[in-house]
Amino acid sequence: MPVYKAPIEDFAFLFNHVLKIQDHKHLKGFDELTPDLLEAVLEGAGKLVEEEFFPLNRHGDEEGCRLEDNHVYVPSGFAEAYGKYCEGGWASLTADECDGGQALPHMIGGAVMEMLSSANFSLSLFPLLSHSAYMALKAHASEDIRNAYLPKMASGQWTGTMHLTEPHAGTDLALLRTKAKPLDDGSYAIEGTKIFITCGEHELAENIIHLVLARLPDAPEGVRGISLFVVPKFMVNEDGSLGDRNQVFCASLEKKMGIHGSPTCVMNLDGAKGFLVGAPHQGLKSMFTMMNAARLFVGIQGLSQAEVAYQNAHAYACDRLQGRGPRGAVDEHSAADPIIVHPDVRRMLLTQKSQIEGGRALALFALMQMDLAHAADNQEEREEADDLTAFLTPVVKAHLSDIGSEGANLAVQCFGGHGFVREWGVEQFVRDTRICQIYEGTNGVQAMDLVGRKMNLHDGRLPRRFFDKITQSLTKMEAGPAEEFVAPLHAGVTKLQDALAQLATMDLADRGAAAYPAMQAVGTLSIAWMWAEMAHASTNTNMAKIPTARFYFQQILPKLDYLCQIIGHGGQVIETHPIGHVA
Ligand SMILES: Cc1cc2nc3c(=O)[nH]c(=O)nc-3n(C[C@H](O)[C@H](O)[C@H](O)COP(=O)(O)OP(=O)(O)OC[C@H]3O[C@@H](n4cnc5c(N)ncnc54)[C@H](O)[C@@H]3O)c2cc1C
Repeated sequence: MPVYKAPIEDFAFLFNHVLKIQDHKHLKGFDELTPDLLEAVLEGAGKLVEEEFFPLNRHGDEEGCRLEDNHVYVPSGFAEAYGKYCEGGWASLTADECDGGQALPHMIGGAVMEMLSSANFSLSLFPLLSHSAYMALKAHASEDIRNAYLPKMASGQWTGTMHLTEPHAGTDLALLRTKAKPLDDGSYAIEGTKIFITCGEHELAENIIHLVLARLPDAPEGVRGISLFVVPKFMVNEDGSLGDRNQVFCASLEKKMGIHGSPTCVMNLDGAKGFLVGAPHQGLKSMFTMMNAARLFVGIQGLSQAEVAYQNAHAYACDRLQGRGPRGAVDEHSAADPIIVHPDVRRMLLTQKSQIEGGRALALFALMQMDLAHAADNQEEREEADDLTAFLTPVVKAHLSDIGSEGANLAVQCFGGHGFVREWGVEQFVRDTRICQIYEGTNGVQAMDLVGRKMNLHDGRLPRRFFDKITQSLTKMEAGPAEEFVAPLHAGVTKLQDALAQLATMDLADRGAAAYPAMQAVGTLSIAWMWAEMAHASTNTNMAKIPTARFYFQQILPKLDYLCQIIGHGGQVIETHPIGHVA
């Protein structure tokens, strides 16, 4: 059976020594986060996921979800585990105090989400979607709606969903057709079909709060004509009690490659009663306020599967006896050595480990910038943090979810044929993590967001902030314990800056072709930067980060060279190839 141990020590090292959260303890949200509280949160979350979430992971994959008479049943045991999650106050960790939340920084929520998701990806989706819906309502809903919905969403008593996708409108939401007809009482009748809706229907919570994108009758064409509505499964009475069942039903469940314990629903809205959130026709903008956070969390989800897969691959490699090491027998008393002696197996394990730990540092750094964008002392610092969050969000989403798939696949490879069969449980991680590269905006679209939008905002201010930040780190590291990483990191910065400058001069087609390698290049360099930071911070701690940093710098960072070379080639060969239509 698979194993999982929450990487609490690594989280504590990152928060205390790399991100140095105590330096920010005068700021709102950080002020509550004493070392004792941090330890209690990490240990409490680790215990919850190891004892309640992880034991249900394999079983949830096998049992899956089922739809009967408009009710969706999730795997047995999920309701009890979700109940313990809510009872322990985990749902309200980062919610506002006025909604009964604990108002801790989102980076702490990120660490907890990684653990929940490693332990049971499907079950962790209920809180994740609810958190996204909570944030969108918090930012845009009227006071009445906020008062009526948010405390119950914050406690986990009610869950949330995001209804964007329709059969003909996935990436291109301009094609969206769901309609909202104004009613005399100020509400709207919503009519349409949504597909692929995560946790669209289930019995885990008393009520489900759907956030639905739809068009008003006078809406302009395209994305400028989309409005956001809140559509509860059960209407909410003035005293907060639940009223009539709303006309929003699950028509069917998707049969899918992974996350079998998560209901992915086709949802029919048959004149469902909804309430406008924010201004008319501004729905997409409202949705995008919480998209940054959701995308950072999807990167973390990807990573979470690489982590649990790595833990299993490492345990197996220490145990499985095959062949002898390259320098002769390591254990002469046994018929063969454990496969961890083989350089190629070590390469696979270290590829996983270096990308997971580096990716984790990057994700938490980005989440901390998101926190600082609200909490920092002055406007200049808030703007810098906001720029860094915006720049890194598509990179964390896409690069870390790619790493998730690569890591889970490498784990299967470490197991050989035993990884391909179901018995050991690692093939589930490959299937489950694959969705992270697709939803919340596909990775290709994230890459386009990075090069098409983020690079150019405010005359290129965002990438300048990013490179300035790395340069500050380089200065700090000179003549320190991470000195050996200064020159290669500096060379990487110069190479990437040159490649991005070249990309900036390209036309749209060339840029579209170079977008993915550009996103990978920024991700590869960002993780090298995090490794240098971790190596620097690891002296006087018991974390042995320098050997893994060396592995990353020697075996992964050189990929930056070929990625920059590909960027330089532009896209002519791609655009003119006779593979199919180009208008
Ligand atoms: C398990 C699961 C859960 C989901 N949960 C939700 C949910 O809760 N709520 C919700 O609303 N949706 C959800 N989705 C939908 C998901 O967000 C979409 O599948 C995703 O946005 C892609 O849309 P699509 O599938 O229509 O693919 P398409 O948009 O048809 O894309 C197909 C391919 O074309 C590429 N492509 C498309 N347009 C461009 C472009 N302009 N530039 C470059 N490449 C492009 C894409 O990158 C992709 O590779 C979920 C999907 C799944 C499978």
